[in-house]
Order: sequence, then C-alpha cells, then structure tokens
Amino acid sequence: SSNPDLSPQRQPEDVDAALRPKSLDEFVGQAAARENMRVFIEAARGRGEAMDHVLFYGPPGLGKTTLAQIVAKELGVGFRATSGPVIARAGDLAALLTNLEPHDVLFIDEIHRLNPVVEEVLYPAMEDRALDIIIGEGPSARSVRIDLPPFTLVGATTRQGLLTTPLRDRFGIPVRLIFYTEAELTLVVRRAAGLLGMAIDESGAREIARRSRGTPRVAGRLLRRVRDFAHVAGAPRVTAEIADASLTRLEVDSLGLDAMDRRYLTMIADIYQGGPVGVETLAAGLAEPRDTVEEVVEPYLIQLGLIARTARGRCLNAGGWKHLGLAPPAGGQG
Ligand code: ADP
Repeated sequence: SSNPDLSPQRQPEDVDAALRPKSLDEFVGQAAARENMRVFIEAARGRGEAMDHVLFYGPPGLGKTTLAQIVAKELGVGFRATSGPVIARAGDLAALLTNLEPHDVLFIDEIHRLNPVVEEVLYPAMEDRALDIIIGEGPSARSVRIDLPPFTLVGATTRQGLLTTPLRDRFGIPVRLIFYTEAELTLVVRRAAGLLGMAIDESGAREIARRSRGTPRVAGRLLRRVRDFAHVAGAPRVTAEIADASLTRLEVDSLGLDAMDRRYLTMIADIYQGGPVGVETLAAGLAEPRDTVEEVVEPYLIQLGLIARTARGRCLNAGGWKHLGLAPPAGGQG
C-alpha cells in the first residue's frame, strides 16, 4: 500500500505550510510564471487598482496556494481562502464576496469542483463586480443587482480541462505550473533544511530532490522523513548515503516513484500486457478514485515518459517496461 504522508496531495492539516515561501523572491522555480506575476502585481499596484483575476493550474503540490498568498502579500491586500467543494450554496459565495475589502484576493482552491449554481454567481461577480440576487418567489420574484468592491479572484485547479468555458474565459491571467527541475528542487530542499535547522550535504539535497516527483510538497515531506532516519542513526548531517538509505526504506525508488506509482505500472504490465487499458479499470483495480489516478499518479509518469494516454486507454512505454525490469511482450506495445 502507499504512504499517504508522502503523496503530493494536501493533507487535512497543512503540515507543509511552515516551509512556504512568503515572497516572489523566496519562491524557487517556475521562472516564467513568477516573472509574469511580478509584472502584473507591479502594474496593479502602480495604478492603484485590483489585479486582474488569475487562474493557477497544474498538478498538486507545485505551489498554487503558495503563489496565491504571495500575490496578496505583494499587492499589500487581504487574503481570503475557500475551496470549490466547500461553497455549497450561492448564498455562501455571496456572503464571501460582499465581505471583501476593496482590492482583496479571494482564493478558490479546486475551482473546477464548484457547483454550477454557485458558478453562475461568479460570472457577473468576476466580469462586472456585481451580484444578481433574486428576491421573492414565483411571479413576484425580481432580480436586484448589488455592486461589489473591486477584488481579485485567484482560482486554482489540477484540472484546467474540467473548467467550464465561461469560467475559464473570465480569468485574465491563466498561469500554468510545471514540474520542478532537479536543480530547482535541490534549492527547495536546502532552503527547507535551513528552516528546519538541519545539516545537509549538497549531494544529500540533490538525492532528495531527484526523488521528489518534481514536486516541492513531496520534497518537504521526504526531507522530514530523512531527518528522522538521520536522527535515529545518529548521523550529524544528511549525506547522499543517508538520504538514499532512508528513501529506499520508504519505498521511494530511484526515479522517485512510490508504492502507488509502481502498483499502477505493474498492473498495466502484468494484467493488461502493457495496455491499452481504460483509466476506470485501472482506478478500480487500484481501489483509488479515478480523479486521484488522473490528477496525482499519471501526470508524473507521463512527464517521465513511462506511460502514454491514448484514445483507447493507457499504455506502458518502453521506459515503463525498463523501469519495472521487464521486457515488453513480443509484437506488443513498446
Ligand atoms: P498546491 O496549492 O499547488 O497544491 P502549495 O502551494 O500548497 O501547492 O505548496 C505545497 C508546499 O510545497 C508548500 O506548503 C511549500 O512548503 C512547498 N512549496 C511550494 N512551492 C514552493 C516553492 N516554489 N519553493 C519552495 N517551497 C515550495
């Protein structure tokens, strides 16, 4: 079974929050996104206006929430956070919007999971900074328009493709976050080690970085676990050897794949001879929600080129067979 503590997904308690960068200068990686945000923030500040609405999209743990907080901080405005599934009724969103101070940032995580009735409220709010409220019922019902303070909506989603077109079109600034490079994650690890008061070698930091699935949240979690191993082993500092031994015990392999990733690959290889196999079938076999498979497991395996998503289903690539130490079936995929 997999270790949820090491997955890129957010935990109910945000244990990684202590490692969050607090300014754009501290934020490592995502150079293109970061420099664009710098320009938009400076322009909004210079004009004394609310910044245009921003949509951050990309796999979990890459820094969407962190960037949203940094945007508010650098704009010098208030930050309110909620998430798509939490806003049950239109009235809940109306209450949030009417309570904003001018130029505030309203952050909606998992914005692709907004209920459609709630989403309808968002359209005029984003476009005209207004709320259309229906008063009364039946033939006497009428619509009243309420003006809202100027505000910036920052949405985050792991599934840009699941956003409705009208919602997507209302974000002036769409920003895609990509997996971090090993060099970037090495900086993330060294910075986090400094915050945790840990001694770590450059080679130890690099080993953790290499095995962090391109994801700062994972890097932070692996670093904490490696710290425990180093402590128990009485090692004064984390070296590449200590990092390797700890990560191997945590079942994080040389590519940074965890037990769940390997179960996914093994299932395609052993049961479906390399595919194609539908994602529903794989999700059922892994006893995981389909969303988790598509949003958490697959993006990194695709990034590494181990699997491919095709119209007929998922296939193991040559690299996937190789990583499992298996030969593709003769005449099959490969
Ligand atoms: P997301 O919202 O995309 O799921 P978060 O913004 O919550 O991701 O980031 C997860 C954790 O990863 C943060 O709490 C922080 O510890 C770390 N993190 C994210 N981005 C960076 C970064 N660029 N540099 C350093 N640490 C980061």
